[in-house]
Parts: sequence; structure tokens; C-alpha cells
Amino acid sequence: MSSKETAPARVSNFIRDIIEADLQSNACAAVVTRFPPEPNGYLHVGHAKSICLNFGLAEQFGGQCNLRFDDTNPSKEEQEYVDAIKADVEWLGFDWAGEVKYASDYFDQFYAWAQHLIREGKAYVCDLSAEEASEYRGWATTPGKNSPYRERAPEESLDLLERMKNGEFAEGARVLRAKIDMSSPNMNLRDPILYRIRKQSHHQTGDKWCIYPSYDFAHGQEDAIEGVTHSICTLEFADHRPLYEWFLDNLPVPSKPRQYEFGRLNLNFTVTSKRKLKQLVDDSVVSGWDDPRMPTISGMRRRGFSARAIRSFCNGLPVSKSDGVVDIAQLESAIRDDLDKHSTRAMCVLDPVKLVISNLDEAVVETMTAPAHPKLELGLRELPFTRELYIDRADFSEDTTLSRKKFKRLVLGEYVRLRSAYVIKADEVVKGDDGQIVEIHASLVPGTVGENPPEGIKPRGVIHWVSATEGKRATVRVYDRLFNHPAPDRGEADFMQHLNPESYRVLENCWVEPGLLDAAPETVFQFEREGYFVADRYDFSAETPVFNKTIGLVDNWAGR
Ligand code: ATP
Ligand code: MG
Repeated sequence: MSSKETAPARVSNFIRDIIEADLQSNACAAVVTRFPPEPNGYLHVGHAKSICLNFGLAEQFGGQCNLRFDDTNPSKEEQEYVDAIKADVEWLGFDWAGEVKYASDYFDQFYAWAQHLIREGKAYVCDLSAEEASEYRGWATTPGKNSPYRERAPEESLDLLERMKNGEFAEGARVLRAKIDMSSPNMNLRDPILYRIRKQSHHQTGDKWCIYPSYDFAHGQEDAIEGVTHSICTLEFADHRPLYEWFLDNLPVPSKPRQYEFGRLNLNFTVTSKRKLKQLVDDSVVSGWDDPRMPTISGMRRRGFSARAIRSFCNGLPVSKSDGVVDIAQLESAIRDDLDKHSTRAMCVLDPVKLVISNLDEAVVETMTAPAHPKLELGLRELPFTRELYIDRADFSEDTTLSRKKFKRLVLGEYVRLRSAYVIKADEVVKGDDGQIVEIHASLVPGTVGENPPEGIKPRGVIHWVSATEGKRATVRVYDRLFNHPAPDRGEADFMQHLNPESYRVLENCWVEPGLLDAAPETVFQFEREGYFVADRYDFSAETPVFNKTIGLVDNWAGR
């Protein structure tokens, strides 16, 4: 293949184009970006796109990307989320520049800047109640009215702000507002709130503060302090840009970042809102934020998706100025491509029925070998072959009229090849009182390991197997899509109504080849003919092997 064929196509990305132009024209010397999560939940696949974009651009242009927590609202934030977010960014493969940063690192500076605005006559303490303030604000089509406190003397506002900070007033009693324009068509410019009273402990600053800056009063200034050049956010902030710029123009900030907005990543068949994901966790619909069905980074990790595959999926998405819905099949296909290339093959019987090889002595353990991977040089696996084996119930039928084309498995009285082992013939079945097959008795055809069977013997196909005496019982958790509706949160019904009742099943009696017991947690295998399965990050051990189904070999939702 020529390098042209292997080079990935350049996906459209208007922000990259802007940065290229800025570097070329010397409008900026080195690119600085940041990823600014609010620690009020775990990160999801949408955040992964933002991470890949921010860190990716910095990497591509030799700049730096900061990880900065936008921790201005202590009521919903927690240290647990801070820790999980850091772990997720690292796991995705990105290094932030220097120490982790927090908006709360700059609270003293923000306070000084608030005083500066008051002194300049550009901010005031307002005593309107929340209801009054919203009435004064007007509507998108009707202008607002000035607050009666708007012309309060700066000295009085400075004093009141100080006393707000000292905890002298109740929550909601007063706020600090910028003095901009109550008749602006942009509601964000109608004297927006800079500080609120919140008598709440903060995960970083403890009880030092009882007033907290608004997102708008914090974000651009954080960017300016950190020397961020390109501040990338999602489209819902486009209307906030004039305010972002107003603060930068009216404060003595050390640098002038620019804000750019791109379309959020939405995936069908799932939800990407932290609030809704939290509801799934709080209502115990899932086992936690890292439940393998969750579109969170930690959920995808536990499901067996590799960081490499998630990055490749995100980097393959265009960065544009409109929101779009991406088909989850596209993510799943990126996962399959990645796992096919990298995962070791193995055999696991999910629904076992015993197969007894009547012409093999009980004491014999023959060692079969099979490549660990069909293409990569990953060596050979050893597969003990014994008199008692397990095969999957679905791979056997007593119905001798089944066509060879439709049923390429074992049929009573016929032949099949056991993968990497002998050709065998099913001779008879033993049934329990309930009519269920308990054993299939078969005979092996000597000399057929790695060799064609003698003339006249035509195996129907190849099936997988595990030694019943040398293999190990395992638990397999089978996951599927959490929602059975393509747009669970976009219709009239509550998104919870669209939960897929078949998104989780536990199979307790699966059998795996013994080599799998040495697996490191988080290793993904292709269980031949079944799909991809990962050794659970927390619950897997050699004594009690637990695997999670990552994804099937083919998309069985297509065409539904
Ligand atoms: P949510 O709506 O799920 O609560 P959020 O935007 O409030 O998400 P933040 O913690 O503020 O979450 O997001 C951190 C960064 O990730 C922001 O820059 C935000 O724009 C970006 N981001 C969040 N969701 C998506 C998404 N679906 N697609 C792309 N970027 C996103
Ligand atoms: Mg947000």
C-alpha cells in the first residue's frame, strides 16, 4: 500500500483551520487550549470529543492544553468527580500542562476584579429578589427595566459586596451584577449576575467563601489568566460570547483569549447529559457511572472499548458549527475495527452442553495449538483436548433434515470440525427426564488435527469447544444498548421509558479455555464466533473469571 492509501483522510475542522491561520499570521505565537469540565458528574463520550479536540490541537501545533475544573458551583460538585475526571483524561492518553488547574485557584483575583468593575461604575450590588429580577429582565422580544439599585454609589456596592463575602446576608438576599444594557437583544447582556451568595463548603476552598462567581464571570478570566489563546466550547455558549468579550475588554486581564464554538456530539440510542446520566445512577438503573452500558468514558472503558478506539472515533468526526447526531453504529464499528486488529482469540462456551468423545481415554490430555491472533505474531495458545468437552447448545441439532447450507454445525449422525482439533461425529444423545439433552456422545476421526478427513467424510462446519475437565467455569455479563429508542430524550415521553429491558444478562455457567485465567484485568479477547469480551477491571480473577461482553462480531441492530 502506498502511504497515500494509509494516511487518514483529513476531517474537516474549522477550528484547526483558524489556528493554522493564526500561527501563520503571527496572531498567536503558540497555541494554548484548555479542557474545562465542571466536576458535577463523570465525563461522557461528548466530553471525549472535546478532550480529543483540545488536547489534539495543542499536540498537533506544539502548544499546550490545560485541564481546568470549572468549579464555581459547589452545590453540585464533588471531589469524587474531580478524581474520576482526571483518571479519565489520563486513561484517554492525554497529558495536561503543569498542575491541574481550578477556577477556584483564581477566586481572590475574581473578587479583586469585581471590586474593580464596581469602582469603574460597571457593576453594582442588587437587592431585587430572584422573582423581581426575572420580571425586570424582560423577554427576548421586550426590553428589560433597570434595577432600582443600578445607580447605587460604588462605595455602597463595595461595602455590600464585602459584607456578602463575610456572610452577613442570607442566600438570595443580594447579588452582584454587571451594568451593561437592560435592553440588549442578547439576554446575557442584561446586567448579568457576577456573584451569588451560597453558604456552602467547596471541595477545594472549604469554607473560605460564601459568595461564588457565575460561570460567565469566571470563564473568560480563567482563560486570560492562563494565557489560553483558543477557548473552545460548545454552541450553546455562542450567545455568551459578547459577555465573554465584555469582561475581557473591561478588566485589566493579562491576555485576550478568543472563544470558538463547535457542535456538540450527540449519539443516538443513548443520552449525553450529565443530569440524565446521574439520574440513571441515582435511580439504580445502572450499577454506577462506570456501568458498561453507560456512554461515560469510565463505562466505555469497563465495557472493553480501548482509549485508542475512542480517540480514533472522535478524531474521525468533523468539527463544525452545527450540532448533529452521530449513529452509535459508527462508534461500535470503530470499536470492532480496533478490537479485531488487537485482541487475542480464545474459546468460550456461553451455553454449554457436554460432548463426550467415546474413543478417547479419560486419562488422556492432548495439547492442541492455535494462533493467538490470525494476523499478528502473537504466538500460539495451548488448548487441552480431553474426553469430556463442552460445546454450545446452539451448535448441535438432532434434526437431520437441516440443510448443510443453513446449519454449518453439528447434527446427529454427522461430522463437524472442532476448532483447531479433530473432526468428530455425533453418535447419540443422552437426555434427562425433562427431555433436555445432557450429553452428546461423539467419536473423533483419528489423524484429522490440522489434516483433512479421509474421503467421504464431510464436516458441516467448524465449532468451538472447551475441555470440561481442564477448562474453567466463568461468568459472562452480556450487555447491549441501554435504550431501545434512537432518540430516547428527544420525544414527549420521559427518556426512562425507552430503557431496553434486555440490556443486561448474566451467564453464570460459561466455560473458558484455561489460558484465559492468566489474563490481566481489562484485556479484551475475541471469543471465537461470539464477539469481543473483556476481563472485568474489578471483578476478574483466576479463581472467579468474570468477562463483560464488549460487542458482538456483527451489528445485530442494523435493519431493526
Ligand atoms: P452536560 O450537558 O453533559 O452536563 P456540560 O457541557 O455541562 O455537559 P462541562 O463539564 O461543562 O459539561 O463540559 C466540559 C467541556 O466539554 C465543555 O467545554 C463542553 O462544551 C464540552 N462538552 C460537553 N458536552 C459535550 C458534547 N456532547 N460534545 C462535545 N463537547 C462537549
Ligand atoms: Mg457546562
